[in-house]
Amino acid sequence: MPAMDNDWGLVADIASSVRSGRVSAISLVNKSFELIEKNKSYQTIIAVLKKEAVMRAKMIDRAVAKNEDPGLLAGVPFIAKDNFLVAGADTTAASNMLVGFNPPYQSSVINRLEAAGAICVAKANLDAFAHGASTENSDFFVSKNPYDQNRVPGGSSGGSAAAVALQLAPFALGSDTGGSIRQPASFCGLFGLKPTYGLVSRSGVVAMGSSLDCIGPLCSNVTDAALILDVISGKDELDSTTIDKDRSGYSKGLKPAPLKGMKIGLIKEYMGEGIQTEVKQAVVSTVDKLKKSGAIVSEISLPSLPLALACYYIICPAEVSSNLSRYDGVRYGFSADEATNLEESYLLSRGRGFGMEAKRRIMIGTYVLSSGYYDAYYRKAQTVRTKIINDFNRAFADVDLLIGPVAPTTAFKIGSKNQDPLAMYLSDVMTVAASLAGIPAASLPIDKDNDGLPIGLQLMTSQRQDKRLLSAALSIESMTGYSL
Ligand code: GLN
Repeated sequence: MPAMDNDWGLVADIASSVRSGRVSAISLVNKSFELIEKNKSYQTIIAVLKKEAVMRAKMIDRAVAKNEDPGLLAGVPFIAKDNFLVAGADTTAASNMLVGFNPPYQSSVINRLEAAGAICVAKANLDAFAHGASTENSDFFVSKNPYDQNRVPGGSSGGSAAAVALQLAPFALGSDTGGSIRQPASFCGLFGLKPTYGLVSRSGVVAMGSSLDCIGPLCSNVTDAALILDVISGKDELDSTTIDKDRSGYSKGLKPAPLKGMKIGLIKEYMGEGIQTEVKQAVVSTVDKLKKSGAIVSEISLPSLPLALACYYIICPAEVSSNLSRYDGVRYGFSADEATNLEESYLLSRGRGFGMEAKRRIMIGTYVLSSGYYDAYYRKAQTVRTKIINDFNRAFADVDLLIGPVAPTTAFKIGSKNQDPLAMYLSDVMTVAASLAGIPAASLPIDKDNDGLPIGLQLMTSQRQDKRLLSAALSIESMTGYSL
């Protein structure tokens, strides 16, 4: 395992050293490139954006030399999951379907980060189209967990998470539809934030489940995540579901929330059977520490949570089947040349371009939306979704914060679940409910298991209370002392 000390330091400090001229942006992107090269065996990166990153770094260094303001994130290298449209590289979403797809425009988040001076140095591996929890569904290669190369880094943002844990860049972007930022953050010992649905624009990110998809950062610490959220959040006219950001911002004046008197609910349904003993113990011992610090922690039951996984695996594939219908072999990506008519072109292009998991989701999604089954599955799932939202609302009337594990286990072995889709889906059992409810949720490292693998704590608050989540996370981070 490589050294896991955070030798980049805080993102704000990196940017201020660039602004003051002490460190050049070009030296920072070169550092990233060297580390990417040195850590190739972890297979976290799909493409490196050498030319564009060097050009941007030089621009920043020139601005500094001319005393112009190069921005809040001046010269800070970052890595984007390969489902973000970024100029200068193909966007593949790790699917054969999109090999060779050169995007004609950029994601709004990438534009915002670049406007603040940050530099995208590489695109990270993921489960194809973000379907999965291990990166084993990538059509290209499997990423490895930095703590044990025989284990998965989690997914679907596994490449992004492993890259940050390996310190290839100070932060990465991920997308979270049912846990894909939180679970890999947990498996790789990072802070991963899924903001409130709509707080960060989805424009220019390959769509998975449009009512669930959230964009967020994977970072070494909470402070960095708050700063990045400041830059990427807020209304965007290119995504009609976006909402205004907190007027006071997320990083400015961010202080650890006083633990004394904080009302915290430990989710009962997440502490039952099927959870790895060390994961449970780590959560219980964090609860003890919170109580010693004066927090009022009570066990809280959300009775509809046991239905969340089934509900998610109806709604998500339904939206997936609709979103993936645009890959028709005509407008985007892979097209089977030998087709002699349109029908055959659909069949051959989609048949070859999509992997097994995408096909499975298209079939399930189409089935649950079909006229005979809509009421039996899709409509029922929407009813359950409302029950879950109501359960969370009731809980947040009593507590400021809900906590629990992120996943039932720590990082599992490569190959141990990929032949059994249901076993893989079960690793999402603790993350999908927050996605269905659209509430902010995060994973914060709290301990390691007996094999030295990181364990994350999941934190959730009510919609638009992202700042509250960050300040609570900051307190727990300093209480446990577990950031990189
Ligand atoms: N593992 C979940 C799934 O396969 C979540 C994926 C995600 O959040 N993109 O659907």
